[in-house]
Amino acid sequence: MGQIIDGVGLAQKVKQEVKLRVQEHRQRGKPVYLVAVMVGGSPAGEIFAQRQADTCAAVGIDYQLLKLGRESAHEEVQQTISKLNHDPTVSGIMLHLPLPGHLNATELQYHIDPEKDVEGVNPANIGHVVYGKTLIAPFTAQACIELIKATGVELRGAEVTVVGASQIVGRPIALLLTEQMATVTICHIATRDLKLHTRRADIVVAAAGVPGLITAQHVKSGAVVIDVGINRVKAADGTNKTVGDVDFDSVAPLASFITPVPGGVGPMTVAMLLQNSLRCADLLQAKTIGSGADRSLE
Ligand code: NAD
Repeated sequence: MGQIIDGVGLAQKVKQEVKLRVQEHRQRGKPVYLVAVMVGGSPAGEIFAQRQADTCAAVGIDYQLLKLGRESAHEEVQQTISKLNHDPTVSGIMLHLPLPGHLNATELQYHIDPEKDVEGVNPANIGHVVYGKTLIAPFTAQACIELIKATGVELRGAEVTVVGASQIVGRPIALLLTEQMATVTICHIATRDLKLHTRRADIVVAAAGVPGLITAQHVKSGAVVIDVGINRVKAADGTNKTVGDVDFDSVAPLASFITPVPGGVGPMTVAMLLQNSLRCADLLQAKTIGSGADRSLE
């Protein structure tokens, strides 16, 4: 039976470290301050934002949810972002998704100052990852790297297959893995023979959003399996439950290490958002005092 990677415990450790550093910022009179912009919103989005506010409060990060009307035009949202970019008290900005249909998320994210971009979604930040000079990495991708590193498995030279090639999850994960000198294969909906690629991998990262896609037939013995998927499905008793992209019961006996869902990538992703918020505050501070410190993460 594979060892379960404890995302909750690892996330807790990160949060404690972040909390200490956040206190230092507050003591210097420059609290870490994250502003989340929500356009329109929904009951589920409001619950998510409240959870985010609570998580930030737990580590001492000031959090404000800035709500704009559902009909807000692109220019209005852009102006709001621009104001936040120029507000010296705001250290981090994020844009809640999904946006109403008339707005384009990528275009708006493009306007977030890369140094305040806690989600690491501005094209400049993706570009920095490509150049191996990560400033702020997309946090789900970062969470996967941290979870793999926690196993102690060597990434250099490892065969890694990433299932899923989305802009915010699969592709950034593949980029960060490449930066760690892994040999990376990216699979997606058009991949002809998924098993061919996953079965030869030392590490499988499943990020397709398809419940139970990865079964025992897809994984070689001793592989590390990271399950990014969060899928709501009906259980046999008719209740709703959250499952990943990996068929945990059949894959766990084969794997050397495996993340559970829930309790794996999810909590670590939240911890990485907090870490990125701290990172943005560090960058703001360096800018304010004109520090010439090395700004890349590596
Ligand atoms: P997406 O729908 O944008 O992208 C899915 C990707 O998977 C695409 O590249 C698609 O081609 C590929 N794919 C779909 N079906 C496939 C199949 N049968 N075989 C191979 N590839 C297939 O989804 P996303 O935003 O990248 O999210 C992926 C999953 O990760 C979702 O379940 C999402 O909820 C979850 N997620 C989890 C976290 C977290 O913190 N754990 C964060 C973000 C997303």
